[in-house]
Amino acid sequence: MRASIKQSLRDGRRSPLDVLAVARADASSLEASLRITDFLLSLRRIGVTKLAATLESLGISPRKRLGFLGPKQSTSLAQFLSARVGTVDPPRLLTPVVLAGPSAVGKGTVASGVRSRRPDTFVSISATTRPARPGEIDGEHYFFVSEQEFDRMLDAGDLLEWALVHGQYRYGTPRTPVEKAIAEGKPVLLEIDVQGAMSVKAAMADVRLVFLLPPSWDELVNRLATRGTEDETEQARRLATAQQELDLASQFDVCVVNDEVSRAVRLVLELMGISQE
Ligand code: 5GP
Repeated sequence: MRASIKQSLRDGRRSPLDVLAVARADASSLEASLRITDFLLSLRRIGVTKLAATLESLGISPRKRLGFLGPKQSTSLAQFLSARVGTVDPPRLLTPVVLAGPSAVGKGTVASGVRSRRPDTFVSISATTRPARPGEIDGEHYFFVSEQEFDRMLDAGDLLEWALVHGQYRYGTPRTPVEKAIAEGKPVLLEIDVQGAMSVKAAMADVRLVFLLPPSWDELVNRLATRGTEDETEQARRLATAQQELDLASQFDVCVVNDEVSRAVRLVLELMGISQE
C-alpha cells in the first residue's frame, strides 16, 4: 500500500533514494505511483512551504508521480535527496563503510579525499590477478598476485570477500588488515565493486554500504572515455557492467551522487560516523 511506503519514509525505515530507485526501475510498482507531493511531504523537515519551493527548484510539477519524472527531473531529485542523506541519519559510532559503484564513477578520488581529511582511515589494499598498469605500485595500489596465489588466499580463508570483475580478473579484500583496523578503533573504508559490497554485507554485521552514483549516465560514459586508462573494447565492457550494477543501487544502505567530490567526501565521512567541524 502507498500509505505504508509513506509511513516507512516518515519513520526512516526506508531511504527516499531507495524508494526513488524502485520507482525508476519499475513503472508498475506502488513506488512509481506515489505522488511527488506525498513523497516529499513524508520526508523529515519538509512541510507545505518547503514543498513548493523544493518542487520549483527541481522543476517538477506537483501533479507528477514518482515513476514518471523526466530523466533530468529524476537526477535532480536524486541529487537533492542525497544532499540530505548525511544530515538525516549519521551513525553515532564509527562504522566501516563500503564504497561501491560503477567503474569511473570516482570511488578512488572520493576514497583519497576521505583519507586526506582523516589520515588515520584504514583504506584496504586489495589483491588482484589483473596486471599492474603503468605507474601502479605493488603493495600500494593493489597486491598484484598470480591466479595460483589468489586460489591459495581463497583456500586459506584470507579474503573477506572477492569477485570476478568485468568477467575478467579476480579482486579480493584481505581479511586480517580490515579486522585489525576495526579492533584498533580506526575508521575503515573499503573501495570495492558492487558484487563484493553485497558479500561484505553478508559477512560483516555493522557495515554501511554506500553506492556512489554518477550525476548522469552520459557523465559516466564521458568520465570513462576521458580518463583514458581503458581502450574502447574495455570501456564498452565496463559500461555493460555499470548498467547491471546501477540496478543494484536500491539494495544499498545509502546512495551518494558524486556530482561534486568535496560534497561526496563530506557525506561519506558522516556516514562513517566522523563528525566534521
Ligand atoms: P580497476 O581494475 O579499475 O582497478 O578496478 C576494477 C574494479 O574492481 C573496480 O570497480 C574496483 O572497485 C573493483 N575492486 C577493486 N578491489 C576490489 C576488491 O577487493 N574486491 C572487489 N569485489 N572489487 C574490487
